[in-house]
Amino acid sequence: MNIILFGPPGAGKGTQSNNLVKDFNLFKVSTGELLRKEINDGTNLGNEIKSTIDKGSLVSDNIINDLIENIILDKKINNRLLFDGYPRNLNQAKNLSKVLNKNNQKLSCVLSLTVNKDSLIKRVLGRQTCSKCGKIFNEFYEPATSDNHNCGQKFLHKRSDDNEKAITNRFETYSRDTLPILDFYKEQNLLHQINGNAKIDDIYKEIRAIISSIDTWHYELS
Ligand code: AMP
Repeated sequence: MNIILFGPPGAGKGTQSNNLVKDFNLFKVSTGELLRKEINDGTNLGNEIKSTIDKGSLVSDNIINDLIENIILDKKINNRLLFDGYPRNLNQAKNLSKVLNKNNQKLSCVLSLTVNKDSLIKRVLGRQTCSKCGKIFNEFYEPATSDNHNCGQKFLHKRSDDNEKAITNRFETYSRDTLPILDFYKEQNLLHQINGNAKIDDIYKEIRAIISSIDTWHYELS
């Protein structure tokens, strides 16, 4: 089962993908996280892409396609990939299909989270991630406290691109380059739209129901 979790910045992809990874033994492929790791590790690639990410623009397709191809070639995680924040444009989406196909894999579904824009801005500006456990909190909606988080405040950090200027650009990039991908997946009957304004647990229930129906469907076919 290979899944794409799709949605604008702040839609809740990170939160839902953390749950899915645990419950379905999936391997999360977040190109954003992979790129941020390059920056934190101070690699050549990290230095090259930092200003692009801080501006909220897309990193070049060549860099992304290379990262993805290396992951798909890894047999240990064959057919249990959860793509989070990837693909970001039609070129990447077509390349993903090609590389999966070449490696005898395919996509099972695309789960698209839709959220109204006012909530998205507040979610992004309030976002805090724990660098120790990966849990995502929100200063406004769900602050980290001693009840819901054991790692302590010192591990909480804000992303350098979670500011008003970068987020405006990230939304524009999303509408212009990323949203058109939905038609590509709709034509292939892979698309499932999910109301991302609902409560985290309710969204997750809906996601699980979709995945179970796909699993049954695969089972019936085999
Ligand atoms: P994310 O963590 O998914 O919000 O991504 C953070 C930033 O990393 C984006 O604003 C882009 O600058 C870059 N990025 C992440 N994924 C991609 C991708 N698939 N293609 C191009 N740039 C990406």
